[in-house]
Amino acid sequence: MFKVHLGFPKNRRPDGALRVRESWQEQFAEAPDVLLGARRQRTIVRVRDFAIGSDEFVTMAGPCSVESERQLMNTAYHVRRAGARVLRGGAFKPRSSPYSFQGLGLEGLRLLAAAREETGLAIVTEVMTEHDVPLVAEHADILQIGSRSMENYTLLEAAARSGRPILLKRGMMATIADLLRSAQVILSNGNPNVILCERGIRTFETSMRNTFDAAGIALLKQITHLPVIADPSHAAGHRELVPALARIGIAAGADGLLVEVHPDPDKAWSDGEQSLDFETFAAMMAALAPSIKLRESSLREEKLKDSENAGIRLAGAAA
Ligand code: PEP
Ligand code: MN
Repeated sequence: MFKVHLGFPKNRRPDGALRVRESWQEQFAEAPDVLLGARRQRTIVRVRDFAIGSDEFVTMAGPCSVESERQLMNTAYHVRRAGARVLRGGAFKPRSSPYSFQGLGLEGLRLLAAAREETGLAIVTEVMTEHDVPLVAEHADILQIGSRSMENYTLLEAAARSGRPILLKRGMMATIADLLRSAQVILSNGNPNVILCERGIRTFETSMRNTFDAAGIALLKQITHLPVIADPSHAAGHRELVPALARIGIAAGADGLLVEVHPDPDKAWSDGEQSLDFETFAAMMAALAPSIKLRESSLREEKLKDSENAGIRLAGAAA
């Protein structure tokens, strides 16, 4: 294994975070695009009139599945009022049982597009097969690749080529390196707009649906230039835990949240146990406001540091 040099001037010793980055540079030596390396700035994903991975913390919220016009519109207005910029909702649903609700399909996509028209919220929704990519890309602002599809490289390639930003959810049994390899597939197919999502992984602990890997978020923020979103809903599996995990995600350095919200969670067609009602979501967002403000001020500092580092590297290269 050869050593990758980051090209820092001799008088500037790398700090701890940079040493971590160097070891990842060695691991990904053949395909380092995905890493925060010597020449890369952080990726800023522009969506409609805002950006993910810049200095605004972005909340995405909405139902697990699109069920009806009334359910979706109602949710869209409430999550917008509570501060969300993106409306989530599954039209094509990957379910654990083939007998569960599979999603409204095209009808769901149309409802999502109508909700965007009405509210101005951007839309994120899952695409499950490469055949559906053009249809989903036509209706959504961001394509979600679900946990179960993270290693479906044919799907990743098709989604990448759509040109839409991709929300790549970590596979429930995927390591951080696996997640980055999948992100690399998207980048290699000409799409730089990848947003990573930590949504909990399988461990020996079964008292929650998944184990929320907050350390994974912190690590990703050190080693990759891609924005990272925390999904406390799928990690927890219980709505009571969602606000705590959201707070932890922000503290770990996430660039945004993905939260399941439903007008009547107990009657939801999927993932009701982990969905928040409007009141709880609004209360959570109000309670998180100081943490989000703090996170946004460190995002501004990171941005400044990035441009300073770029300046140092330029000066180092010239010397
Ligand atoms: C979802 O977002 O509703 C979903 C199915 O998520 P995941 O792929 O993380 O299970
Ligand atoms: Mn769900």
